[in-house]
Amino acid sequence: MRQLIIIGSGPAGYTAAIYAARANLKPLVIASSVEVGGELMNTTEVENFPGFPEGIQGPELMTKMEEQARKFGAEILYQDVTELDLAGPVKRVQLGSGAVEEAAAVIFATGSAYRKIGLPKEEHLSGRGVSWCATCDGFFFRERTIAVVGGGDSAMEEATFLTRFATKVYVIHRRDELRASKIMQERAMANEKIEFVWNSEVVDILGDEAVSGVVLKDTVDGSTRELDLQGVFVAIGNDPRTKLVHGQLDLTPEGTIWVDGRSSRTSVPGVFAAGDVIDPTYRQAVTAAASGTIAALDAEHFLAALDEAGAPEPNADQIEGLPVV
Ligand SMILES: Cc1cc2nc3c(=O)[nH]c(=O)nc-3n(C[C@H](O)[C@H](O)[C@H](O)COP(=O)(O)OP(=O)(O)OC[C@H]3O[C@@H](n4cnc5c(N)ncnc54)[C@H](O)[C@@H]3O)c2cc1C
Repeated sequence: MRQLIIIGSGPAGYTAAIYAARANLKPLVIASSVEVGGELMNTTEVENFPGFPEGIQGPELMTKMEEQARKFGAEILYQDVTELDLAGPVKRVQLGSGAVEEAAAVIFATGSAYRKIGLPKEEHLSGRGVSWCATCDGFFFRERTIAVVGGGDSAMEEATFLTRFATKVYVIHRRDELRASKIMQERAMANEKIEFVWNSEVVDILGDEAVSGVVLKDTVDGSTRELDLQGVFVAIGNDPRTKLVHGQLDLTPEGTIWVDGRSSRTSVPGVFAAGDVIDPTYRQAVTAAASGTIAALDAEHFLAALDEAGAPEPNADQIEGLPVV
């Protein structure tokens, strides 16, 4: 049985791996089969990660984090976790290959997914005018005309924040009223750089190498029209990736994994969570990395205490039928 398995290879997972490997815990990172490196693999320039004054490409940053984790002895498997059994002292992690890994502690760092509009051009132009994060990308849109898609609090917050950079911000919303709280609405409506485009749906994003506009469909009469702009911020929600732990770990009302105060301790002893999957608010690479650090340190303390108390042995009856790696 291993000491520690880390699920996820974003900034939270790899940072946890760097700390855990340097603490000699020989962590196994399950990095996923297709999304190795996490959300930053979907972006171009990252200008706000400390230590890179010239900026760094998202994929390059994640490759460096992976290298750093490997350098200290983290083992990395490019597989998906398909099932988890977190109850009891031996945590079982089933992989896409069917194999099962076991550990005394698990760090869960599966991130979250921004909801997409679902347009073919959306992915293609990601990092080239299409964004899901105003804090991350607003700075690239100085003196530009942009749109925020959505009608909730986060759409209002993003739109208001983006007026610091953009000359004009359209808020495109399907209905003729907003879901956002009254205070957020009032703030956005009082901002003279923001113009609301009601009863409208984005049905296409224009541009090949960079966004040049959007096609809007009127949700009342079905007519379409084009709007010239250089950026589209999609603010229609974010889903923490918690499916694997439903029924096993407590969640918060926002849908993130519940952790105890500022720690990474979940509702199950020996299971720690880090990064965007526990964070309904900040969701930045550096906050995810910091959260990975906390999880590694918490896991280290947990394992040290187990060691003192006498580590559990896997029970052969409980693992019958599952191929153990
Ligand atoms: C387009 C875009 C641009 C961004 N730009 C910036 C920026 O400039 N600066 C900034 O600070 N932040 C930026 N962010 C936010 C930043 O990417 C996230 O806050 C950060 O990546 C969160 O890290 P994480 O480790 O918690 O999760 P993620 O990076 O989402 O990583 C989660 C990991 O878990 C893995 N995983 C999920 N399910 C499974 C499974 N079943 N089995 C195995 N593995 C699994 C995924 O494959 C992935 O490797 C951006 C986000 C996006 C989407």
